Amino acid sequence: ASLYGIDGWGQKNFSISSAGEVTVTIPFDTGDVAIPIVDIIQAARDRDHELPLLLRIENLLDARVSEINETFQQAIEHAGYKAEYRGVFPVKVNQQCSVIEEISRFGTDFGHGLEAGSKAELLLCLANLNDNGLLICNGSKDQNFIDLGLWANRLGHQCFFVIESPSELPLIIARSQKLGIKPLIGLRIKISSKVGGLWTETSGDRSSFGLSTAQLIATVDQLRQAKMLDCLQLLHCHLGSQIPDIEEIKVAVREAARFYADLATENVPLKYLDLGGGLAVDYIGNQSLHSHSPNYNLADYCRCLVETIKETLAPHNIDHPTIVTESGRATVAHTSILLFEILNVVRYEANDLPEDCPEHCHPLVTRQYQLYQQAEVISPSEGYVEALTNRDKIRELFRSGVINLRERAMAENLFLAIAQTIAKKLDQLEKIPLPLDSLKQSLADIYYGNFSVFQSLPDTWAIGQMFPVMPVHRLNECPDRNATISDLTCDCDGKLDRFVLAGGESKTLPLHSLKAEEDYILGAFLMGAYQETMGDLHNLFGYTNVISIRINKEGGFDVTKEQSGDTISEVLSILEYNPTLFYKGFRDKVELAVKKKKINVKERQQILNHFSAQLNGQTYFNV
Ligand code: PLP
Repeated sequence: ASLYGIDGWGQKNFSISSAGEVTVTIPFDTGDVAIPIVDIIQAARDRDHELPLLLRIENLLDARVSEINETFQQAIEHAGYKAEYRGVFPVKVNQQCSVIEEISRFGTDFGHGLEAGSKAELLLCLANLNDNGLLICNGSKDQNFIDLGLWANRLGHQCFFVIESPSELPLIIARSQKLGIKPLIGLRIKISSKVGGLWTETSGDRSSFGLSTAQLIATVDQLRQAKMLDCLQLLHCHLGSQIPDIEEIKVAVREAARFYADLATENVPLKYLDLGGGLAVDYIGNQSLHSHSPNYNLADYCRCLVETIKETLAPHNIDHPTIVTESGRATVAHTSILLFEILNVVRYEANDLPEDCPEHCHPLVTRQYQLYQQAEVISPSEGYVEALTNRDKIRELFRSGVINLRERAMAENLFLAIAQTIAKKLDQLEKIPLPLDSLKQSLADIYYGNFSVFQSLPDTWAIGQMFPVMPVHRLNECPDRNATISDLTCDCDGKLDRFVLAGGESKTLPLHSLKAEEDYILGAFLMGAYQETMGDLHNLFGYTNVISIRINKEGGFDVTKEQSGDTISEVLSILEYNPTLFYKGFRDKVELAVKKKKINVKERQQILNHFSAQLNGQTYFNV
């Protein structure tokens, strides 16, 4: 069971029960409560929410918000730091209503705020922000955006406009004078220290966000001239998401704190140092300093920020700033799981091989047969290279009409049988020779899942992100197959072929053979960050069904929210189709078929009823 690395990335939230099922475990003062995911799937099905299903676990969201706040608090106390921590959740990481409502509700006691990067996000934040939370506005801000933010201040919120480019300031000054409301201003700086990882183009001189040092000074001087220096209270930077190396974070935080110190020494009345996002999630679970697995945990991160700021400011005799972070990924990744069933499997195995090589075969096919008979004893790399060359030559002979289709089919089967025999021997080799390095992968089964990579896990396609994927049941049985996973789209990129295993990364996933009449359900874990709104409608697969649950200390759980997936009609509406006209167009076509006597009226009605039911049905495979 630990094969899938769940002990590492599962962080005690996910584990495997003695019944071989993945459970979600929540600690209560009365003891731990562990709920099997298959029970939650059953509860969803009882409410007519079939797979694919996005499952949100509210307890995990609450736990992450409190862990981040409490761990910063501990680091502050431990270091004797003389100011507080204030978290904000960047809503772009997961804008879904149930997520934002819960973060705001639960975050009230911690004063956990929100970050907006666009006008739509600002509206969403204004409607949901709790009374204590900061509101940080990044991104481009037009007049309407600025007016909304200023009114938010009038309502009593602390809404910061973070200036990312010098051109933003004149409009903020003008609107503030017009409305007679003072703004709260932050300046976003470009940190020159670069950090590694897959998501870190936001740092360095060429980053498209933030002020250069010269622009920063010019903006400060402009504010001074406009007699609005008192509005400048926050210094902001963001190095990128999922930063793998704590040492690089330290270097960047030191640079940010140096900016802070020198501005404060120039009497800029700064109070907040906002270090953006970047706190990484361990998708592999072994702190392996990999882009998916940082070499630090939450406690290390909090200590690093607090202590580095304290040390850097020490020579300057200035007040410690309130530390703000905008952790998105680390807040929400663990809370969502995509659950989908496997619909069918394609195996790359030979079948129906003859006992003897048929007479009158082409000599190359006969040679392939000999290799097949000797496959156990031949040298793996030489035997494989010869079989591969033979296969390609036989294909060429087929193209030029020298051998027929049946001979080709037998030759391909022979090749598969040779390759499978050689692949089995690879485990005994100390080092896998070069021609065989991707053999196992090329012979792996393809498991077809009822989901869309593009809708539900777009980062796997766009930037090669890995999420832990594993069966949620049958974990007492040894997996007997190796597979890659394909989705429902007709796109060769709609696949998962990088997997997290206990030993690290793998190109194939150990899975179980399907059993007749039994579901085989996989979960993609830690996928709560960035995936939902970045997903798209490729092949018109829409949002899946979603349920939120809250596990209770009595040992059960409540289904707190549910949302049916997109219907075909809803998806078509997004693409400029009017479902009513759409139906009418089809109806006219069917009516004409009646007139031409291709179908009778009864059949017409059956066809129209079916069409209409599908329009109102969901986009995924009906099992
Ligand atoms: N803040 C800003 C300005 C961002 O651009 C981002 C995302 O890249 C975040 C916060 C969230 O980062 P993370 O998800 O790594 O915490």
